[in-house]
Amino acid sequence: MIEFRNTEKIYPNGAKALTDINFTIESGEFVFCVGESGAGKSTLIRLITCEERPSKGTIILDNYELSRLQKRLIPNLRRKIGMIFQDFRLIESKTIFENVAFAMEIIGASKAQIKRRVPMVLSVVGLRDKADHYPSELSGGEAQRVGVARAMINNPGLILADEPTGNLDPANGEAILALLDEINKAGTTVICCTHDASLVDLMQKRVIELSKGRLIRDEKCGAYSDCVPERELSFERSDEENAALDEAIYENMHFEHQRRQAKRAKQSAEIKSMLDEDSRKRRNRLSLAERIAKMRMLAENIEPNNSQSKIDIEQ
Ligand code: ADP
Repeated sequence: MIEFRNTEKIYPNGAKALTDINFTIESGEFVFCVGESGAGKSTLIRLITCEERPSKGTIILDNYELSRLQKRLIPNLRRKIGMIFQDFRLIESKTIFENVAFAMEIIGASKAQIKRRVPMVLSVVGLRDKADHYPSELSGGEAQRVGVARAMINNPGLILADEPTGNLDPANGEAILALLDEINKAGTTVICCTHDASLVDLMQKRVIELSKGRLIRDEKCGAYSDCVPERELSFERSDEENAALDEAIYENMHFEHQRRQAKRAKQSAEIKSMLDEDSRKRRNRLSLAERIAKMRMLAENIEPNNSQSKIDIEQ
């Protein structure tokens, strides 16, 4: 859940980017944020990722109050968010596999996890065959599909897309939106900033519109224009790609299941050794108690001046 409450952002140079913004986005929603250039869309995204702090008001993301979030907790927050950029931002010297894997390495995923999950997510975006290619060998549409794969690789609760179709032709733009729609339907909240009126019309999702930093429209099933085409978007995969995807999902689940089992076995071994340790300590404590009891018994039978008995006790 994301909530903006009376939020205002004024940059240090005095530019008023957002004024008195109020809205709530529930988990699992798909929301377009539209508005002319300079309306405040990127500022809104930068406030959610804590790249910028509000000048006034409150922003809440799940259990975090972003306006007050300590700097050291920002990396934790960002792990829960997947970002998609207009200019893709892929690392040219890394392959497609490595680009996506890198986002997992950053959060400390194991090699085994990376080996299982990356092919699955590349299958989701229809690029499993291009895993070993470099970004320079991809079309714009394919590069942005890598961007989508990278955004979803750590299974974030929220995906923020800043003009994801801005550099794409209409067909590739539709493919990206269809993918985002699929990911959203699988449970991820999506906020997509865009100028692309035809895609907003097509998708029939909630629309938040900004103008000169103010929220001027919040519509449940919005569109840019009145004439709404009736066409359902879907991301097309070949039969082979779908089979590979099913297999990858199964492999990933099986792997996760085994990983959980191994973790449980490790935990129960740890508990057992803790119990063993405890009973060893208890044995020690008991023998000490026995020793004390024995000494007391001896002491009670012994004359205080009998030095021979004292020596016996010490032995
Ligand atoms: P949009 O993404 O809708 O194009 P922005 O959020 O980028 O809008 O910008 C909103 C307003 O804030 C604009 O007037 C812009 O000039 C200003 N602005 C954005 N970023 C900065 C910044 N870092 N410093 C100063 N002013 C900024």
